[in-house]
This record gives sequence, structure tokens and C-alpha cells, in this order.
Amino acid sequence: MGYVDEVIELVVKKNPAEPEFHQAVKEVLESLRTVVDANEERLRREGLLERLVEPDRQIIFRVPWVDDNGNVRVNTGFRVQFNNSIGPYKGGIRLHPSVNLGIIKFLGFEQIFKNSLTGLPIGGGKGGSDFDPKGKSDREVLAFCTSFITELYKYIGADIDVPAGDIGTGAREIGYMYGQYKKITGSYEGVFTGKGLTFGGSLARTQATGYGLLYLVEEMLKSNCREIQCKVCTVSGSGQVAIYAIQKAHQLGAKCVTCSDSNGWVYDPEGIDVEVLKQIKEVQRARLTEYKKCRPHSEYHEGRGVWSVKCDIALPCATQNELLLEDAKALVANGCFAVAEGANMPTTQEATEYLLENKVLFAPGKAANAGGVATSALEMTQNSERLSWTFEEVDATLKRIMVDIFHSMENAANRYDASGNYVIGANIAGFEKVATAMMAQGIW
Ligand code: NDP
Repeated sequence: MGYVDEVIELVVKKNPAEPEFHQAVKEVLESLRTVVDANEERLRREGLLERLVEPDRQIIFRVPWVDDNGNVRVNTGFRVQFNNSIGPYKGGIRLHPSVNLGIIKFLGFEQIFKNSLTGLPIGGGKGGSDFDPKGKSDREVLAFCTSFITELYKYIGADIDVPAGDIGTGAREIGYMYGQYKKITGSYEGVFTGKGLTFGGSLARTQATGYGLLYLVEEMLKSNCREIQCKVCTVSGSGQVAIYAIQKAHQLGAKCVTCSDSNGWVYDPEGIDVEVLKQIKEVQRARLTEYKKCRPHSEYHEGRGVWSVKCDIALPCATQNELLLEDAKALVANGCFAVAEGANMPTTQEATEYLLENKVLFAPGKAANAGGVATSALEMTQNSERLSWTFEEVDATLKRIMVDIFHSMENAANRYDASGNYVIGANIAGFEKVATAMMAQGIW
């Protein structure tokens, strides 16, 4: 059995009941096969893959808080510090009832390669809790965030581990968490990113993941002699990533005709109205059923269905494993020629393989959605400098980073005889830097 297969088997055996983590490890290691085979003796001697798939540490803790009826509620908090060979751990905090250790490990593992791809000095980590902010009052969210940080503060710091937002963790939650960190430590430091603009946040961070996704798509199309103008896009999700992906796509001359949330989806043949969407999701924190009230010609459907709509480009921006094999088949049958992942691992492995076999341009999340973490790293830079950059400076740097990411993955794919396979390209480009740093730093 080859080294890659041995390590995949080991991960499955050592981490039972963590299917998302198995999936992420398999996807990465299988696409590194050529690189690993070419350097097998050294990598085996160094135990490099075994070290890569084992987090530096995993912190699991109780998060008790009091609800509005005076009852004590208990959630579980997680922080997985996966790998800091190229910089302090960096990754978001996910607040969603589906969160468990395996999901945080899959996200933390992916984050290592994503952060490496940005070219910036940031390691991989991720955290979260099974707390659901939906339907909770501001006071309840504050109570949860305060309790969460009262334990987590021991393990984070501006040069140690810098958390950020993710599903369920937006500006409000980051503000509450940062406030509690500051109260306990007395230290005013750039320990979180995604902070409010009045206390160290970066302009363009809110837009960064969605905008970055479109910058990468634009470059990918250019490199394949296509252009984004006048293309029809289908988008899933209606959170931070989806909203700003739609906005940038429209600015670049494309038309996004769908969006979704966990209850249903909207089809607006004239193009999703971003201002209406922002009002519903960012201001009212309401469901997508509201959209039709402002755009009567649009359609609302319960359940899933975004990928059945005819499009040129598909942008999954909601959550993991939301684009299945049957969806990939529908996309190909409808003439879709590009898929770029705004969310983390939204496409199942079988769906990804089907898209690649059918020559669909496929940009994996660790490259396509890296604009968020890249801009978080720019927020860290601004905090260290005690300066704030303009929106235009951050946006221009973000665009340059996304263009560079595309070319690093394209070049890596070309070097290993996998031209056009950006899954392989992104994993190899991300891995090379981390592996070199790990081997240079001895055994840890
Ligand atoms: P938000 O919480 O702002 O939005 C998430 C969206 O996805 C919402 O529309 C939500 O609907 C929907 N959603 C969540 N879970 C499910 C589900 N199980 N089934 C269907 N829809 C679901 O999160 P973000 O936009 O920030 O994140 C979206 C994705 O992008 C995640 O995978 C995240 O890890 C990834 N990402 C985010 C970055 C960022 O900067 N924010 C950076 C890089 C990656 P509902 O409101 O009904 O729950």
C-alpha cells in the first residue's frame, strides 16, 4: 500500500465518526499523490503526512450561559489549532447546531492549505460551537459569546491564534467576543479579525470572500479564453459570502439569478436584487420568503433546487456538501462551464469528479474563497501597523492576491501534468510551502 493510502486508512481508524474530516483528508492527500510518490522516502522518514493530519492541539470545553427565562443552557466549544508552521493559527468560529469536532477538524485542515495559498504568513485553525444564534436575543448571544471567550481566551493571542467569523459568527458576535477578551486580558491587540471598523476592523473585510471569489473566477475564465460579462450565474446561500459574490458578479457584468437559505430558494430571472437581499438578511435577519414581497415576479421554492436552474457559472456559497452528484449532472446537462466554491467543501467528491471529467472549470474552495482569510491577514497587518487602509487599497490588494492564487494553482497543476485540474493544483501549491516549513523546523 502506498504512503497516501496508509495515512488515509490511519485517519479513518483514529478518528471514527468524523466523515467530513475523512472526506477533506482524502480529497487533499489523493490529489498530492504524485508529489508524495516522487518524494516518498524522505516524507515517510519525516512522518510528514502523519504529522500533517494530526492537529497540533484540540481544545474542547463547556460553554454555560443563561437564557432569557433564567435557565442555564450548555453548549460545547471547540478550537482546533491545526498547524502553525508558516504563521499563527488563523481560522473562523462557526456557530451552528451541526457543529461537532469532525466538522471543525475538516475546516481546520482545509484552512492550512488555504492560508498557505494566500502567500501570507498564517497557519491553519478553526473553532466553533453547536450554539445556534438564530432566534436568540442580543442578550442571549452576548451571554454565550462572553462564556465562550472566558474559556477560549487562554489559548488565543495576536501572535498565537487569531479567530474570525464564519457561519453564524458575524460582526455582532466578533464584537462581543473581542470585548470579553479585552476585559479579561486588559490587552488591546489584533486577536480577532472581522472586528467593527471603529475598533480595528478592516474596510472590505465584509465583502472580501464574495469579491475575492469573483476576482478568481474572472482570472480563471480569462486564462481559459472566456469572459464573465453577460454570463448567468446560480448562487446558493444568502449570507455574507453569497451576498457579496452576487454584488461583485453584477458589477463585472454577469447576472446571478438564484440564492437560498436553509429553508428554500429564490429564482429571480431579472437578477437577484442585492439591496433587497441585504435588507432581508443583514437588517431584518428574516427568511427568504420575504424576497417575493419586494420582487413579485420572482419565484420562491421550499427545499433545495438552485442547481436545477440553467446557468453558465455555478457558485455554491452556503455550506459543505450542498452540491451533490445529481446536481453536477444537472449543471453539465444545462451547459454550465464553470463552478467556483464560495463555501468550504460545498461540492461532494463524486460531484467534483463528475465536473472535472466533463471539463467544467472547477475552482476549489481553498483557493476560491481564500479572499476572506487573506483580508483578515491584511486586517492583522493594519492592526500591527496601527494604521487603517482605504477600501480601495484593501480591495486592490485582495484582487492581486486572488489573481496570484489562481496562477499558483494553475502553475502547480501544470508542473505535475494535471493541466486545468485546479483541485490538484491548489492542494499541491498549498502543501509545498507548509511541508518545506515543517521539515525546516525539526520534529514537532
Ligand atoms: P453566513 O452564516 O453568513 O451564511 C450562510 C448561508 O448558508 C445562509 O444563507 C444559510 O442559511 C445557508 N446555510 C447554512 N447552513 C445551511 C444548510 N445546512 N443548508 C442550506 N443552507 C445553509 O455564512 P457565510 O456566508 O460567512 O459562510 C458561507 C460559507 O462560506 C461557509 O461554508 C463558510 O465556511 C465559508 N466561508 C466563509 C468566509 C467568510 O469570510 N464569511 C470565508 C471563507 C469561507 P440560513 O440563514 O437559513 O442558515
